[in-house]
Amino acid sequence: MEKLGESICPYCGVGCRLAFEGTGGQVLRVRGVEAAAANLGGMCAKGAQLGPTIHTQDRLTKPQIRLSRNGGFESVDWQTAFLYIREILVNIRNTHGPDALAFYGSGQLDTETVYVVTKLFKGCLGTNNTDSNSRLCMAAAVAGYRTSLGSDGPPTCYDDIDDADVIVIMGSNMAEAHPVTFDRIKASKLLRPDQHVVVIDPRRTATAQAADVHLAVAPGGDIALLNVLGRMLIDLGALDHAFIERHTRGFAEYRAFLEQIDIVDLCGEAGVAPEDAYSLAKRIGSARSFLSFYCMGLNQSTVGMWKNNSLINLHLLTGQIGKPGAGPFSLTGQPNAMGGREAGLMSGALPGYRTVEDEEHRREVESFWGRAPGSIVAKPGLSAVEMFRALEKGQLKAIWIAGTNPVVSLPDLHHVRRALGKAQLVIVSDAYHPTETSELADVLLPAAQWGEKEWTSTNSERMVSFSPKLWEAPDLALPDWEIMCRFAQTLGAPGFQFTSRDAVWDEYIQLTRGRPCDMAGMSSTRLRECANLQWPCPTPDHPGSKRLYLDRRFPTPDGKAIFLPRDHREPREVPDHEFPYVLTTGRLYSHWHTLTRTAKADKLMRREPGPFVEVNPHDASVLDIQEGDHLQISSRRGTVQLPARVRDSVPAGMVFVPFHWGDLYAAGNAANYLTISAIGRVAKQPELKFCAVSLEKVPQPRRLDPVTHVPAARLADEDELDERRPAETFIG
Ligand code: SF4
Repeated sequence: MEKLGESICPYCGVGCRLAFEGTGGQVLRVRGVEAAAANLGGMCAKGAQLGPTIHTQDRLTKPQIRLSRNGGFESVDWQTAFLYIREILVNIRNTHGPDALAFYGSGQLDTETVYVVTKLFKGCLGTNNTDSNSRLCMAAAVAGYRTSLGSDGPPTCYDDIDDADVIVIMGSNMAEAHPVTFDRIKASKLLRPDQHVVVIDPRRTATAQAADVHLAVAPGGDIALLNVLGRMLIDLGALDHAFIERHTRGFAEYRAFLEQIDIVDLCGEAGVAPEDAYSLAKRIGSARSFLSFYCMGLNQSTVGMWKNNSLINLHLLTGQIGKPGAGPFSLTGQPNAMGGREAGLMSGALPGYRTVEDEEHRREVESFWGRAPGSIVAKPGLSAVEMFRALEKGQLKAIWIAGTNPVVSLPDLHHVRRALGKAQLVIVSDAYHPTETSELADVLLPAAQWGEKEWTSTNSERMVSFSPKLWEAPDLALPDWEIMCRFAQTLGAPGFQFTSRDAVWDEYIQLTRGRPCDMAGMSSTRLRECANLQWPCPTPDHPGSKRLYLDRRFPTPDGKAIFLPRDHREPREVPDHEFPYVLTTGRLYSHWHTLTRTAKADKLMRREPGPFVEVNPHDASVLDIQEGDHLQISSRRGTVQLPARVRDSVPAGMVFVPFHWGDLYAAGNAANYLTISAIGRVAKQPELKFCAVSLEKVPQPRRLDPVTHVPAARLADEDELDERRPAETFIG
């Protein structure tokens, strides 16, 4: 067996560095790299099972075009594909303006790609319509950090786990979604049994089961609980007055806000007994160091930013930030969700944590790119959900989707399918075909995936990592950054004559100089030598920064962090007489996102072969449901049918459905046919964790065609049905 080399794992935001061995180009063994700071030799089953996902039958190896959605795809060369795309995009831009175009990418894309996409769309095409599936995961965390601390960026690092006295994990099933980081907490607790781990989650997840204390907060009750904890910390006198005085503002307003709350009422909203909240407040208040982890449970909410602010308030009250073992640590879901945030993929962002709304930021970037003042539009572009709304309304005409599968991951999938059906041009860049999204495309572009290119990513702890190319990409597949640059050159756009990934990276980091995410000291040469560094790293001799805000200065105009009083708000759609249950969605240990890779690994599929719905024993008894019975779950947007798992890990009144399975693997039964596309006002993150559903037992599961989603019996009689136009078959 030969050593093939090392790479960052292409799955979650933990950012494990893995070593690959094999023969004949096949990966046969994967190991966690012991010297890697993110994983210290650890890895989970997903990383271990990467081998079967690489050289598969469904790899997309050539550009393909179809002139009609009734027809099949035909392979073409790159130049033909680019000329075809150029003609349509230029026509649309000339007729409808630049805001009729959009790019929807993902945390799978490397930072080099994000940078050239931002440069092309925001700097040359004249639209800010670039966004990422990170909008579904992390937008509330971004907005929370920005509003409370002045800038995006987790201030913490994984080593803080070892230094923390109290670890609160809120709205995160780390044991399944970030398993290597959770293993590190377990290892730390073995060495320090007095370390106290509290999980706040409506479900008794695997993470909650391993904790010292599980607080089963009511679904949507997070802000209520956080405000109760804030008030109790004040009542306990457990405040860091010197920190509050010197390094924050807004405390008086926050205290006045908390003093008028009724603790018992708010505990009722939170679904937590006052004595349990008090016990946690005492723990936090007396801790030498208090570290909080959070993820989708806080973020996937129409008030996700407020939830983030409310949690950060507790760190500000107690001065638990900017020191070892302390701080608010948002976990990222994807290998380079952070890189997308840093390099400007989100619709309101520009490289280096700049924003399009800030005139000085726009001028800096325009000048760097050699663009005329005013080239970059001041208004944020469309966010993920807004893009698909605009497609359905006909305002957006063309969308380029790269490295993501929105026809499984976005909320309200019937709407998403209708929206794509109305697009004049859908371009999909991916490593695989078919996916649920690529099936609805007009143009397919073959992307080289992680082991087939050089690439850079940033993990949850701001660790920027270089991954080398380990083997050749199949046939005509290219790295995404190169696809974008070649297309930009076809357009005649200036500034895309990059001859290597290094050249892209070295240009990009100049735009981070002096910014909170300063990477100016991480040249491509240096990153190749040392593999990874944490930002800020402003100079070539800077060692990188494990933690932010050690000097207690925050990137706000006066250098102070901000207390933000936030009230408890109901989710957008609450249960009622028609839809009396709460649906929450989430992830499983064996799978990642929309199964595009993990479904190819038999060992992973054997662990979790199909979708299901978890229902509480009390609800199961009321509905006469036994384990394995089929439940029809309906919301105002759709209906799915899934086998039931009767579990007391989900509270009465709530059901849980993993969101991984789309139509390719569970026709018509994706969780997101049910979910609501309501988004937050600032973060614009959809409320994927909460919507109202009804449940009924069904004798036999319906059989649906995987493409059209129409019941199979009907298909046989309906020859006229256009199987390649699912948008039309979905109406009604
Ligand atoms: Fe590590 Fe996440 Fe990959 Fe598992 S999926 S090996 S935890 S990066």
